[in-house]
Amino acid sequence: MRITYACPACQATTTLDGIETRETLDCAACGAVLPISADAFAGRGTDQPARLTRCLVCPSLELFVRKDFPQRLGLAIVVLGLAASCVAWANRELVATFAILFGTALLDVTLFFLMPDCLSCYRCGARYNGAGATGKESGPSAGGREFGGFDLETHEKHRQLVARTKRLTSDPTHP
Ligand SMILES: [Zn+2]
Ligand SMILES: [Zn+2]
Repeated sequence: MRITYACPACQATTTLDGIETRETLDCAACGAVLPISADAFAGRGTDQPARLTRCLVCPSLELFVRKDFPQRLGLAIVVLGLAASCVAWANRELVATFAILFGTALLDVTLFFLMPDCLSCYRCGARYNGAGATGKESGPSAGGREFGGFDLETHEKHRQLVARTKRLTSDPTHP
């Protein structure tokens, strides 16, 4: 399993592989070490792929499953498609205009479905990819938690929590 997270100490984005066999998360930029507690994975040391039970960074219990789709790539395809269709439109190529628009939309949708799932943390945004991250490869009897898709209410809860924590730590006069 691979993790991509923002280091809590220096905010640098760090990517580490094989986290189910690691004892710590080490930041390559500042050397900050985050210990991985033994209960963070279910099924560790069995023949099943180890399953993540909570975030290793913050450590929130609430994670959601999403597509590991680079949003910038999706946006770039749409922008390129729009630009190309404008050129075709200017040249009065009506069929080409709609073919390009339809084609780019289809490409976006296809890419989206081809991309694997990953787990993401509501609180700190850490991302987990690979076997055991989404829990789909092991049955419900494997133990541990099943994570669902994105939930706006949970997201909002964590967003407000983070904002409140920031306010409290930045304003020492506040009780
Ligand atoms: Zn760091
Ligand atoms: Zn987290």
